[in-house]
Amino acid sequence: MHGQKRIMVTGGTGFLGSFLCERLLREGNDVLCVDNYYTGSRDNVLHLLDDPRFEVLRHDITFPLYVEVDEIYNLACPASPVHYQHDPVQTVKTNVHGAINMLGLAKRTKAKIFQASTSEVYGDPAVHPQPEEYRGSVNPIGPRACYDEGKRCAETLFFDYHRQYGVEIRVARIFNTYGPRMQTNDGRVVSNFIVQALRNEPITIFGNGRQTRSFCYVDDLIDGFIRLMGAPAGVTGPINLGNPGEFQVRELAEMVVEMTGSKSGIVFKDLPVDDPTQRKPDISRATQQLGWQPKVNLREGLERTIAYFEWKLSGGVKNRLSAKSSQEAYPHLAAANVELTAPEAIR
Ligand code: NAD
Ligand code: UDP
Ligand code: UDP
Repeated sequence: MHGQKRIMVTGGTGFLGSFLCERLLREGNDVLCVDNYYTGSRDNVLHLLDDPRFEVLRHDITFPLYVEVDEIYNLACPASPVHYQHDPVQTVKTNVHGAINMLGLAKRTKAKIFQASTSEVYGDPAVHPQPEEYRGSVNPIGPRACYDEGKRCAETLFFDYHRQYGVEIRVARIFNTYGPRMQTNDGRVVSNFIVQALRNEPITIFGNGRQTRSFCYVDDLIDGFIRLMGAPAGVTGPINLGNPGEFQVRELAEMVVEMTGSKSGIVFKDLPVDDPTQRKPDISRATQQLGWQPKVNLREGLERTIAYFEWKLSGGVKNRLSAKSSQEAYPHLAAANVELTAPEAIR
């Protein structure tokens, strides 16, 4: 238990943010969750609302915010290409104006601040696997640039606030992470494939499906966040956090179909512009500096995620309120150790 800090999580009702809030509360902290609900959902934090140490504030971080905190985790930003490309100007504002506001807040309050950066800073990488020293290959004017360049500029701001004002920073470069509480319409590959498979709809592979990604289960990632934030002063990052297991997108499709027993076929769609051909983290730095490495392999993580979506697609939130406890109504979720959103399900 580290305990008893006032911690702000921006993007706290999103997929990763909700797990982070839960973990920080469990460690005894006061948590202020800040979100504009662009891709997040109150359902993701419903089970935390009864906790007196938990507070949710509807706020867009592109606007200034004056609160008193000891630590900030800056996660606000839509992460799925479908969502960040829907309003690209807002994506840049969230990444750049949002970072400036949160860094201004950190500077004034002397709070330590964590940035959820991304493997997208490496673009379509020419170096494989990607170490932190690799400077990346990003198209500054393509449809992914609002996110990639926005996140790169945010890293610049973090390091300039650190050098110029002594703000204590922690920058994590997150590789594709998946798990329960992704929205059914999130648009990222793992949730898309699972939802399609459970509905017996065609699995949509973009391109020939030979492009690779490395998939990290959410619990492992959150553990990396906590270790990085708690690392000794001077450990600023950037530091890769991800699971080095590398899979072709078509392999993922086959695995999901097999594990769900789905009748889905596969359809091939156009590869999105600038879609990276390969991605795999070099995690030597995280291993050396944080003693961190992921523990949950893809099959285990998919099992838990599939169990969550089975529950969600069969009525989820609606059923939850009538059931005495969600885990009673959906015992397979207890086995998968998935925390549900019902108030009774608080650990
Ligand atoms: P998500 O879309 O589920 O969550 C993002 C959250 O930010 C949502 O709750 C959304 O409503 C909120 N948000 C967006 N713009 C905002 C704004 N202007 N003000 C306040 N709130 C805002 O995505 P996620 O997967 O949970 O990602 C969280 C963070 O981690 C993002 O910054 C993302 O770029 C980064 N990241 C995630 C992954 C991954 O694989 N999950 C990989 C790399 C980086
Ligand atoms: N800011 C904020 N909350 C704070 C302190 C600052 O939102 O508690 C915003 C403020 O609006 C400013 C930005 O953060 O525009 C950057 O702050 P900084 O102190 O670096 O810049 P300045 O105020 O000098 O423009
Ligand atoms: N993808 C796919 N079908 C989908 C969604 C994504 O084939 O329904 C592919 C996408 O083209 C990319 C990979 O899966 O090559 C990962 O996509 P995602 O949007 O999850 O994240 P990215 O790493 O591209 O940001």
